[in-house]
Amino acid sequence: TLSRRLERVAAQVPQGARLADIGSDHGYLPVALMLRGILDAAVAGEVAQTPFASAQRNVRRNGLEGRVCVRLADGLAAVEPEDRISVISICGMGGDTMCEILEAGKQRLGGVTRLVLQPNGAERELRQWLMGNGYRIVSEELLRENRFDYEIIVAEPGGAAYTAEQLYFGPVLVQEKSEAFLVKWRRMLRQKQQTLANFERARGAVPQAKIDDFRQQVGWITEVLA
Ligand code: SAM
Repeated sequence: TLSRRLERVAAQVPQGARLADIGSDHGYLPVALMLRGILDAAVAGEVAQTPFASAQRNVRRNGLEGRVCVRLADGLAAVEPEDRISVISICGMGGDTMCEILEAGKQRLGGVTRLVLQPNGAERELRQWLMGNGYRIVSEELLRENRFDYEIIVAEPGGAAYTAEQLYFGPVLVQEKSEAFLVKWRRMLRQKQQTLANFERARGAVPQAKIDDFRQQVGWITEVLA
C-alpha cells in the first residue's frame, strides 16, 4: 500500500499511461500502479545506488521484471525515446532540484503530456519554471501528513500566464481556498510575521531585498486570508 501522499500522486496518473518516475527510491509508485493495471509501461529512475538496488528488489519481489524498468540515471537521463513516456512523476525532493532536473532534461520532454510533481519546498520556483517553459497547471492538491504540508502540482503542455501571487500560492489552490489551504496559510502567516520581526530587530544584517520579499509575502497572505 502507498502512503496517503503517494496515493494522491497515483490518482493523477491516467489509465494507460507510460510512466517514468524520477527519484523513485523503492519504486513504490510505479510498482503499485503497474500491479493495479493502470500502466502500459513504467520506468523507475534513480541516481543513487542504494535506492536503485531497493527499487530493483521491489520490482523483482512483485514479479514485475521487464514491466517496470529500473534505471540508474541522473534525472531525465532515465527516459529513452523508445519508452514513449507519456507521464513523468517527480516526488519527494526539493522544488529547486526538480527545476534542475527539468531544465537539464528539457529535450526529453517532447512526447510527455503530463507532469505530476510533489516538491518539498520551492513550489514558487517550480511553478515559475513551468510557466516559463510552456506548461499550464491543470490541478493542484494540498495535503498534510506526518506534520508536513505537501503540494501536488499537475502540469500539461500549454501556455499560461500567472501573477506573482498565483505562483506563490498555486493558481488552483488559491482559487479553491480549501480548509487545508486556510489552515496552512494561517500557520505560515504566524511564521512569516515572526521571521519578519526578527529581521527588523537585526536591522542591517539582513539584505533589504529579503526584508521586502517577506513583507510582500506577509501582505499577500493577509490578503488571501481576509
Ligand atoms: N519519489 C519517492 C517518494 O516520493 O516517496 C522517493 C522520494 S526520496 C525522498 C528522493 C529520491 O530522489 C532519493 O532516492 C534520491 O536518490 C532521488 N534523487 C535525487 N536527485 C535525483 C536525480 N537528479 N535523479 C534521480 N533521482 C534523484
